[in-house]
Amino acid sequence: MSDIFENISYKADEPLKKHTTMRVGGNAKYIFSPKNADEIKDIIDYCKDNEERYIIIGNGSNIIFSDEGYDGIVIKLNSLMNDYTVENDLIIAKAGCILSKLAAAARENSLTGMEFAAGIPGTLGGAVVMNAGAYGGEMKDIIEYADVLMEDGSVKRFSNSEMKFAYRESIINADEIVLSACIRLKKGNKEDIEALMNELKEKRTSKQPLEYPSSGSTFKRPEGYYAAKLIEDAGLKGYRVGGAMVSTKHSGFVINYDNASSADVVRLIDDVKKVVFEKFGVMLEPEVKIIR
Ligand SMILES: Cc1cc2nc3c(=O)[nH]c(=O)nc-3n(C[C@H](O)[C@H](O)[C@H](O)COP(=O)(O)OP(=O)(O)OC[C@H]3O[C@@H](n4cnc5c(N)ncnc54)[C@H](O)[C@@H]3O)c2cc1C
Repeated sequence: MSDIFENISYKADEPLKKHTTMRVGGNAKYIFSPKNADEIKDIIDYCKDNEERYIIIGNGSNIIFSDEGYDGIVIKLNSLMNDYTVENDLIIAKAGCILSKLAAAARENSLTGMEFAAGIPGTLGGAVVMNAGAYGGEMKDIIEYADVLMEDGSVKRFSNSEMKFAYRESIINADEIVLSACIRLKKGNKEDIEALMNELKEKRTSKQPLEYPSSGSTFKRPEGYYAAKLIEDAGLKGYRVGGAMVSTKHSGFVINYDNASSADVVRLIDDVKKVVFEKFGVMLEPEVKIIR
């Protein structure tokens, strides 16, 4: 059996706030950065043999951990798993690729369809699992297939329809790991692609509180409503719990305004849910994954 502590890059007692864009959370017992599927399997085998819990993360842009940290192994798919190739109108990429890098590759190759994703600060793996989307586009529109490490150690290729993409959801559950995916785009005009990316970037910077740590839109869009509008109409714009705050720039964002703890963020989320439900009868559901 391979010794994961000898062969795979890892850190012990590592602050999770360094690995999540909300910049909160205690320490992970270990955080591993595997280079390939075999290393991921070795880590999971170790976890099973030693009864350690484990979790996969990408760029940590839609996940927060508690202040107590994570008493187990965090498997981070990042820059050690970020190769990609462009073949005609397809981009085939490892799960750890950051979306902005893939969007830039699409632009350089005059491929259109991925402009919406250029400003989403996640990895391809995280975006596929979450069916990330923005400005009328979502991963569902561009994923041809995804290769997934199953719980039994096999690798299964899921076609787009097999992924069962829905609003911020896919069929992939917590025991399955997206290893890579194929993105299908269309031939386009490089200047037009660049212009659209710049326009969307401008929209993001003017509307979103990108100057503060956050996990993006904290709540899913409830059917028939906009979370940000409900929160604002409930009078919660600028509402604070400790160092966490409902952004005054965009009420759909909970931001780490001033050294927030994870507990501050979670309490703020709970308060917002409660007040919005009391005022409007709508139960907001967090989009951000809260790991306890
Ligand atoms: C400023 C800001 C703006 C944002 N804007 C948008 C937006 O416009 N649209 C949008 O949809 N989202 C947005 N987000 C949220 C976030 O970027 C996306 O949800 C993104 O897809 C998460 O990717 P990640 O790699 O960071 O995943 P993580 O946050 O690391 O993980 C998210 C979930 O996916 C799982 N996961 C991650 N990688 C894998 C994998 N390879 N295999 C299996 N499971 C995996 C994790 O276990 C976790 O449950 C924004 C976030 C921020 C901070």
